[in-house]
Amino acid sequence: MQYNINKIRSNFPILNEQVYKKQFVYFDSAASAQKPIQVLIKEEELHNNYYGNIHRAAHFMADKATVEFEAVRDKIKNFINAESREEIIFTKGTTESVNLVASSFGEKYLNEGDEIIVSEMEHHSNIVPWQLAAERRAAKIVKLPFSNDGVLQMEKLPELINSKTKLIAVAHVSNVLGTINPIAEITKIAHENRVAIFVDGAQAVQHISVDVQKMDVDFYAFSAHKMYGPNGVGVLYGKEKWLNEMPPYQGGGEMISEVSFEKTTFNELPYKFEAGTPNITSVIAFGAAIDFMNEVGIPAIGEWENELLEYATLKLKEINGIKIYGEPPNKSGVISFNIKGIHSYDLGMLLDKLGIAVRTGHHCADTVMQHFNIAGTVRISFGMYNTKEEIDIFITALNKVRMMF
Ligand code: PLP
Repeated sequence: MQYNINKIRSNFPILNEQVYKKQFVYFDSAASAQKPIQVLIKEEELHNNYYGNIHRAAHFMADKATVEFEAVRDKIKNFINAESREEIIFTKGTTESVNLVASSFGEKYLNEGDEIIVSEMEHHSNIVPWQLAAERRAAKIVKLPFSNDGVLQMEKLPELINSKTKLIAVAHVSNVLGTINPIAEITKIAHENRVAIFVDGAQAVQHISVDVQKMDVDFYAFSAHKMYGPNGVGVLYGKEKWLNEMPPYQGGGEMISEVSFEKTTFNELPYKFEAGTPNITSVIAFGAAIDFMNEVGIPAIGEWENELLEYATLKLKEINGIKIYGEPPNKSGVISFNIKGIHSYDLGMLLDKLGIAVRTGHHCADTVMQHFNIAGTVRISFGMYNTKEEIDIFITALNKVRMMF
């Protein structure tokens, strides 16, 4: 089937906007993706037609909202091929998903002297919560390094694992280098050594088909706003065997079975980890984003974005003084670069004036910046709606900016 880019773009009204009277080119989907009209309509539909607080439904509206909310859990279960819907926990986003596991897994399983392996290419969200958990337990963080081309040094992994290792935390796709990490391979090594694996999928699920059972991961996290969905909601997938044993992360309504001053018992999965009223609106609208991605097809999106990646990389390499960070063989639609003699921030600011939205700075990945001994980069990242014509506009603009220096 042909990838119908015009039809896809027609669902994103914002792409027709102008910025400083210039065509708006959005190359910052890795930070947050634009939302199709279907997501916006779903939010409105909920509030106009069937809003009520969920799970305590004693009336029609609350009951209808509950059914819609829980249907999204099933959609996500199918989207990542989890074994059961009980393994899908709604959170505020990837960051909260990591904090949930770091806190709860840490409380149950981490002891003094234990070790957590964290890759060098992680977003701060997949480093700091583990540091906090390690600090509470007098445990230790161990770095899994990457090489200069942006590939994890897999040969080092078996050497880093010992009897004290409890968990490996790693991104499926790096938000700076674009590297697609060999998760199934890492999981195999982890499990052979009775070590759990936590995968940050924030930059993966919207680009590559994810099958948590096939990869056999213990935990997998992602954010709706990077998947053409609304802000303020994300997912934690966890194998039932872990989630059943782990203590609750937060206390409050919904996560309990019975409460008395003497003793409180906790609800079953997934509700044990969903204290309080969740983000009802965003979860329900997230369902529309999942439907939209399924309709276009993740493999088709991935193929299209690969074409964009190849095209943009070729064009960028023609520019004098350019340095691209991360050229792994398996790469997703993210390119980080610098141009000699121009500060990344200046480059980003001038591109913005020409209508092009890119990201500049450390991208919440200081350890990647430290690896290359740089303060920051310019990052472009693609979504399903980007085109080669937009890359041409960007390259022309980049050359124009370069001439100014
Ligand atoms: N992990 C990665 C790889 C990311 O790129 C991001 C956001 O950019 C996050 C985690 C944090 O996601 P959120 O801010 O939605 O919690």
